[in-house]
Amino acid sequence: MWSRLREVFARELVVLVDPTNALHARRRKQLTAAVGTVFTLGMAAAMGVAPRSAFDDPQAPRVREAIRLPDLRTQLEQLTETDATFVREERMQRGDTIASLLKRLGVDDPDAQAFIRRNTTARGLFDLNPGQTVQAEVDENNLLVSLQANLGGDANASRELVIERAGDPADPVYKARVQSVKNELHYEMLSGAIASGGFFKAMDAANVPDEIVQQMLSIFSGVIDFHHDITSGDRFRIVYEAGFRDGAFVRNGRVMAVELINHNQLHQALWYAPEGSKQGAYYTFDGRSMKRPFLRSPVEFSRVSSGFGGRDHPLHHHWAQHKGVDFAAPTGTKVMATGDGEVEFVGQQNGYGNIVILKHHSGYSTYYAHLSGFATMKRGQHVSQGEVIGYVGQTGWATGPHLHYEFRVNDVPLNPLAIAALDTPALSGPARQQFLSYTSEMLSRINALRTYNVASASN
Ligand SMILES: [Zn+2]
Repeated sequence: MWSRLREVFARELVVLVDPTNALHARRRKQLTAAVGTVFTLGMAAAMGVAPRSAFDDPQAPRVREAIRLPDLRTQLEQLTETDATFVREERMQRGDTIASLLKRLGVDDPDAQAFIRRNTTARGLFDLNPGQTVQAEVDENNLLVSLQANLGGDANASRELVIERAGDPADPVYKARVQSVKNELHYEMLSGAIASGGFFKAMDAANVPDEIVQQMLSIFSGVIDFHHDITSGDRFRIVYEAGFRDGAFVRNGRVMAVELINHNQLHQALWYAPEGSKQGAYYTFDGRSMKRPFLRSPVEFSRVSSGFGGRDHPLHHHWAQHKGVDFAAPTGTKVMATGDGEVEFVGQQNGYGNIVILKHHSGYSTYYAHLSGFATMKRGQHVSQGEVIGYVGQTGWATGPHLHYEFRVNDVPLNPLAIAALDTPALSGPARQQFLSYTSEMLSRINALRTYNVASASN
């Protein structure tokens, strides 16, 4: 890719630079040096944006489109104009001062330096982390024309700091602003196998960013218990969006597709927003919503300390049967609503201690007992699946901190662990047709990624 780009730029230089013009010849020298610098930095950026880049792991190819080199074209075009400016890019270094940064950028401009020092927006420059890039455009006298830096953002958009000179260079006026600019979204793909070290070690080994792991946990939360169900030999493949600005990584975005082979069973999820709907959700590849009506567990990272229906519990013996399931977890652990519903009761009840009762559709209700505290909410209020409703405690009849969780249908307690497989709604009619055409496009992308070779990523 680089050699081809060099060829292209070399051609343009031939076209734009007249070697018989003394001024052009001098500019050409400067410009070539500038092009060389930007190329080197561009490559450094490509390798440096993801410290755990997949370039060195052929099992986990990291796909990247050609990097857009900013301002080079403009720079080339400016050769034919009289007021040529030059762009340089530098990385922020630990301990940088305004003076040291500007010096590396080739800016020799006390007015600009004074402006950056006193202007609060411009000083945002120094919120940058070491390694982040700053671009400066200078005129022939090394005076600052403009400066820009990416202050971060989300996957879709970056906040960009722009400092610009207005008016006569002899009497310069500087302005600083922060603007929102759209990022380029790239698809990144990672894959790997679970070894004996377990799921989280495998994610680390495959360089899956933490926020992407979190999304994966949440996508499959209704289907897989990542602490207990995942075994050595399971495999995964994941495609997610990452936002780039001028070739530099800004932030990871949403998981677009994920496959997990667990105990030889294939689980797949695809992000899809139906046409005309702003809200997307995860679906299986055959069009079934991944969102289960009820989560398997109201507490993350817990274990079942007492199952459903067990008798003779030392403190629960007043019940003929254990009507729920106990999850052992430290006091203060967040308790989540397992399904969308409405608050039916929040307060104290004999034996249960602090309890929240939620009413759901179709006669379902859920009970969360022995809480140490409640989230702010009142009777009749709507709660969403996964919303925190309270905190684990040991109020009421409880020997130690745990959550007593009941799942009832028309007030008859059922084993919550046995209802995880409740049917989920599927897309139908035209929505299903749209989904399937989207899926086939996405699948062909993923299949292309499967055989993608990093060496050919520029083609
Ligand atoms: Zn219990």
